[in-house]
Amino acid sequence: MILNCALTFDFDAMSVWLGSYKSRNPSMISRGEFGAIAVPRILDILKKHNIFATFYIPGHTALAYPDIVKRINDEGHEIAHHGWVHENPANFDEANERNNLDRGLEALQKVACVTPNGYRSPSWDFSTRTIQLLLEYGFVYDSSLMGADFTPYYARKNDEFDDRNPYKFGPNVDIVELPVTWLMDDFVHFEFVDNDTFGLSAPSKVQEIWTKEFDYARNNELGGLYSITMHPQVIGRGHRLMMLERLIENFKSHDDVGFTTMIDYAKKWRTANPLETWVASGAPQATGGAGRDKL
Ligand SMILES: [Zn+2]
Repeated sequence: MILNCALTFDFDAMSVWLGSYKSRNPSMISRGEFGAIAVPRILDILKKHNIFATFYIPGHTALAYPDIVKRINDEGHEIAHHGWVHENPANFDEANERNNLDRGLEALQKVACVTPNGYRSPSWDFSTRTIQLLLEYGFVYDSSLMGADFTPYYARKNDEFDDRNPYKFGPNVDIVELPVTWLMDDFVHFEFVDNDTFGLSAPSKVQEIWTKEFDYARNNELGGLYSITMHPQVIGRGHRLMMLERLIENFKSHDDVGFTTMIDYAKKWRTANPLETWVASGAPQATGGAGRDKL
């Protein structure tokens, strides 16, 4: 058994400032342009270390930077869906949530002839219908929820919840959830947005957190998935890229660690843990370790 390590990059470019932060300030929006400077640097590092990674790309970014997105695809990395313009799905009715999914799909198809099997919602926000839509659209996995750390689980639909009644879990569905956490996201550690979101951490702090999570996973969660979420416009600064290379070199130094794309791991996990047997095994509804030793 190995610890499966996934490097993931959300290539948001301008979309995060337009969609999430609703900015119409050309200077703030230009922060996203740095993402296009950073992606080639990242691709060079990945090639040097012979690592295939996963890039989550909004349709808006794909249309803005088609040549870079093509290069990501040509170099063998996974490209996955990341919304249309980094919108929060909960801000839309069903017709428009579908429209955003469609526009994201159309852009990736147009630019790189890619039909993604994976989805990560912008800013990891969901509407209450998002999982049902992902199911209908045929996605294999989602990577937006936070119900576990190193162990995938099957997503649920139709949970019932409010602040008056006991939480009621809905049924698991055939969408592999590859969980995430803000702790393992470069944006919150490093990015300065405004006086309310003030990152600018030294890489040494982030390296310590990410390395200790790695050490824990390697000691306790072999067979699981250790994933890091990075943004080219954030991690692409020189001193942070040097941290990324130190992390990669550490990960590579262990015989029981291997790199994977998110889709490759999701498919392996799904094969080892079919939905029917996973549910029948009595795996907890939110997290499940059943079959993890098969990976
Ligand atoms: Zn994003």
